[in-house]
Amino acid sequence: MDLTGFRAALGDIPIEDHPKLVQQKSRDHYWYSPILKAQLDQVTADLVVMPRSVEDVVTVLAAAYKFDVPITPRGAGTGNYGQAMPLAGGAMLDLKNMDKVLEIKPDRVRAEAGAIMVKMDEETKAAVGAELRFHPSTYRMATIGGFIAGGSGGIGSVRWGGLRNLGNILGLKIVTCEETPRVLDIAGADIMKLAHAYGTNGIIVEAEMPLAPAYDWVEVVVGFDEFLDSCRYAEALAGQDGILLKEISPVAAPVPYDYFGRYRDFLRQDQSVVLIMVAPNSVDALTLFTSHHGGEILHRSDVNDLDAAGRKLPPIYEFTWNHTTLRGLKIDSTITYLQTQYPTLEHLEKIHRMLGDEMPMHIEMTRFDGRIVFSGLPIVRYTGEERLEEIIRLHEENGCLVFNPHRYTLEEGGMKQTDRAQLAFKKEADPKGLLNPGKMIAWDDPDFDFDSGRVWLFAGLAEQA
Ligand code: FAD
Repeated sequence: MDLTGFRAALGDIPIEDHPKLVQQKSRDHYWYSPILKAQLDQVTADLVVMPRSVEDVVTVLAAAYKFDVPITPRGAGTGNYGQAMPLAGGAMLDLKNMDKVLEIKPDRVRAEAGAIMVKMDEETKAAVGAELRFHPSTYRMATIGGFIAGGSGGIGSVRWGGLRNLGNILGLKIVTCEETPRVLDIAGADIMKLAHAYGTNGIIVEAEMPLAPAYDWVEVVVGFDEFLDSCRYAEALAGQDGILLKEISPVAAPVPYDYFGRYRDFLRQDQSVVLIMVAPNSVDALTLFTSHHGGEILHRSDVNDLDAAGRKLPPIYEFTWNHTTLRGLKIDSTITYLQTQYPTLEHLEKIHRMLGDEMPMHIEMTRFDGRIVFSGLPIVRYTGEERLEEIIRLHEENGCLVFNPHRYTLEEGGMKQTDRAQLAFKKEADPKGLLNPGKMIAWDDPDFDFDSGRVWLFAGLAEQA
């Protein structure tokens, strides 16, 4: 890597090389995992480059190719599997200066990759009364490029599924890392080569996303004495075709009372809850449905949006998805979490009874290939890596899926196998392997045996230690 040549080739493109600031930008939310924290704490880039346009990105990637400088793209750095950690040093490519919404139509929006999702929605709501179909709970920080490259789904996925579903990303513009970088418009099936690839096979510079009608979503908290009753209710509610919902999340006691401080005055410690976002025109139907299912409405944002101290409550989506864990970590830094999927309520019940309070349940109801499933982000009272592995095994032996959030590679995080299409595209778009090195096992170690039970460690990490 020739950093001097690289810097000289950047011209007037803004850079940052103060070691403290570079280290800050070399971090994402990897510390969420005690395992990733231990592995990745020392990782840092050599400098940060902040392109302002597609032309700037082309210049940076041509220079990276010429001077063998690894490039790790970064949106807002809210990814929580170490996706945006520069394992081989080099340059962070910070997309924050490319944050414009470029075009709005009634059914779609096109924006630069660094656009913050909440800001995109502000613009589309004002222009055409529409919003993104779904967003992560980091909506107020995360970028659209980072979501597509590193995320999966979120608030709205109960209706629309996730990023992996055809139709949820309409088009991408990307830049390749070659001697002469190409700017490519990606559409149709090719989109999936780039989505959830952690930026290993191309830098996304623009994205076109479909829109859904925008609502002033009403936030509702429904209480149940028994967690499994809350799940039964949530599943039945998700199947109600006439009730327009954006979020349904059952959370087991004592998580809501112990970790959701601002809501504590509405809750009892032994109460499990379902966190809901519903369209205003469906609130009456939701109320009726809830009374038929023995739920107790504990809170409605259209009746009261203040906490007991008279302060405005944070949006309820910031208690769902990975924010549930974040709320927990603020109170008890020893906890961690898993990402799971329970095909049926019976699967969920079995694991819940087996693990009890060692793994307080947190479920996100999501639409998965047309079916409503229980996607889990359960809290785990962490006692060590060995026990965590045992809990994962218990899930798998009982027919439940685990997408391990304690691994930084694309493969180990969920697929447990190589995505041939992503790898083939990387060979074309990044022949020197400079884009986010160490995240795609198949590139560095095509013979890695996923059945060996061994954890893969990127060689560049050892060099930095
Ligand atoms: P970053 O973290 O900056 O990047 C994510 C990945 O994409 C990295 O590999 C990075 O290298 C790559 N990348 C970034 N920009 C580009 C680009 N322009 N081109 C190519 N590659 C790029 N995720 C969900 O899916 N759903 C959730 O509900 C959710 N909730 C979360 C809650 C909390 C509290 C936290 C900490 C994380 C959560 N996440 C969730 C993970 C993360 O916040 C989201 O996936 C988010 O969309 C990532 O966006 P970002 O801009 O922060 O991306």
